[in-house]
Amino acid sequence: MNAAIKEIIITGLGVSPGIAVGRVHVRETGSIAVPEYAIKASEVEDEQQRLADALRISQRQIGRLKAKSGSMPPAAAEEIGFLLDAYEQMLGDSRLVRGAFHRIESERINAEAAVQAEINAITEGFAALDDTYIAARMDDIREVADRIIRALTKSHVRPLNTVPKGSVIISEEMTPADAAQLTPKRVLGFAAVLGGAQGHTAIMARALGLPAVLGAQGLMHQVRSGDTVIIDGTQGRVIVNPSTATLAAYEIKQAEDRRIIGRLARLRRQPSVTRDGIDISLSCNVELPIEMPGVLSAGAVSIGLLRSEFMFMNREDIPSEDEQFHILKDIVENMDGRTVTVRTLDIGGEKLAQSLTQDIGESAQSALGVRGIRLSLKKPELMEGQIAAILRAGAFGPVRILLPMVSTVREVIRARDIIKRVAARLKRKKVTIADPLPPVGVMIEVPSAALTADAMAAVSDFFAVGSNDLTMYTMAVDRTDEQVAELYNPLHPSVLRLIQFTAESALRNRIPISICGEMAGDPRFTALILGLGIRELSMSAHALGPVKQRVREIEMAAAQNRTHFIMSQTDPGRIAMLLDDFNSLV
Ligand code: PEP
Ligand code: MG
Repeated sequence: MNAAIKEIIITGLGVSPGIAVGRVHVRETGSIAVPEYAIKASEVEDEQQRLADALRISQRQIGRLKAKSGSMPPAAAEEIGFLLDAYEQMLGDSRLVRGAFHRIESERINAEAAVQAEINAITEGFAALDDTYIAARMDDIREVADRIIRALTKSHVRPLNTVPKGSVIISEEMTPADAAQLTPKRVLGFAAVLGGAQGHTAIMARALGLPAVLGAQGLMHQVRSGDTVIIDGTQGRVIVNPSTATLAAYEIKQAEDRRIIGRLARLRRQPSVTRDGIDISLSCNVELPIEMPGVLSAGAVSIGLLRSEFMFMNREDIPSEDEQFHILKDIVENMDGRTVTVRTLDIGGEKLAQSLTQDIGESAQSALGVRGIRLSLKKPELMEGQIAAILRAGAFGPVRILLPMVSTVREVIRARDIIKRVAARLKRKKVTIADPLPPVGVMIEVPSAALTADAMAAVSDFFAVGSNDLTMYTMAVDRTDEQVAELYNPLHPSVLRLIQFTAESALRNRIPISICGEMAGDPRFTALILGLGIRELSMSAHALGPVKQRVREIEMAAAQNRTHFIMSQTDPGRIAMLLDDFNSLV
């Protein structure tokens, strides 16, 4: 290591544990390909709406960057604040924006081309002036235009899967769709300025086993492509140009991690049973088919949550029923008789698929808007295609259907009607489908669903507790927002009481209940989950070993006693202490 190069440590949220040492690949945010095509008169309104949506996305990004700059040193905050204010104005009622809207209509061109044409016209006018101030302003306008175009072309595949082997990706933002493109064969880890620990980008990183740090302020100013970098996803640190001593210390940590992983792998064939002989079923969550080898080698009893969103991300069209069927059939066959719980589409909120959400607009981007089952019921043809694919795949092995983001009983009834209708249509056409029809379950991840668990149980064959969203909606904390990450706490008594209420209802109504939020994969919570009466846990394949180890240490009666005491508490800090004490004893 060159002694003149100084080691820089940037802190953030460690969202996916482990250590990666590699070469920085700064995510290209400069020149971007601008698609250009003509549109019909009838498409003008839709295209203008697309531009309006992209402006809103860009404004939101600027807003988040502005909020972050508040915690920078005052001089830097002031400078960046001015710049971001100017960007915000340009995204409002500026010549750039007005001109782009006008061009869509007058020139009948797509929104990206309209923004590009307008920016060219603006910059041409000033090009002749040899003035450094104006040149700098032109750069700012180009930056804003690029931001809008990036928001417009969000779903276009960006070649993250072609970065050099051994890369560590550094970017301003990594969306779940971006993370879905990463292959652990090439990418060793990543870090980004934006993002919270419980968002899907973080979940994806954990699923892929990629160390990751999000919410790393100042990151983009401190690294260059080609630098050596350490991502410490356990401690939440990005170390740029590490010294020889730091590298050596991290090599020791990496060796220790490998030793632990090897020890846990040996648990694969051991039963998942508590010390007093109670079987606990451990299943896997799957976000991407690339995880399947890990699921099979982890010894999962089933797939407790197949997040079907991956089939819809990073593309502009909707996958056909046949395409979905073949993907699902492969997974079902791979599981060789073990159940696959397929969750219907949970697009919306942070998980966007342009093909589906374009016409919904801003509501699809809101965690409180058209998301999950709401989107499926708004687009019955979409749900019918997906259900048909699941029912057909169910002919090749056991499947269950899981409905996300349910907030009312009526949504379940409507979804069940669609399932029945699709099954009847397929049978009429003599298509082979699951027989009997798969069980239909409900994600309990919205407080209204938890609080009406008895009514939900009357229309559901099983429950799956989505503790990620349940925590978000109960605490009113956006799980993707690093600024409020400290408030996100599944140990808050409000969240625990909702889980307890749901578990008791499932027990009373004799329907199976599992938990598939990130809590399930954290051994710190295992005793509490068991104590609340839940016996089925679904998690990322990497978490299965540590959780099984924990299950085998626990005595159920003791876990129940401690849980009983914890549930009488109101202070989240004390709850955490009582749980950690218990964990350190057994
Ligand atoms: C959850 O909300 O806990 C869950 C499992 O669903 P997702 O993380 O996909 O929203
Ligand atoms: Mg959820």
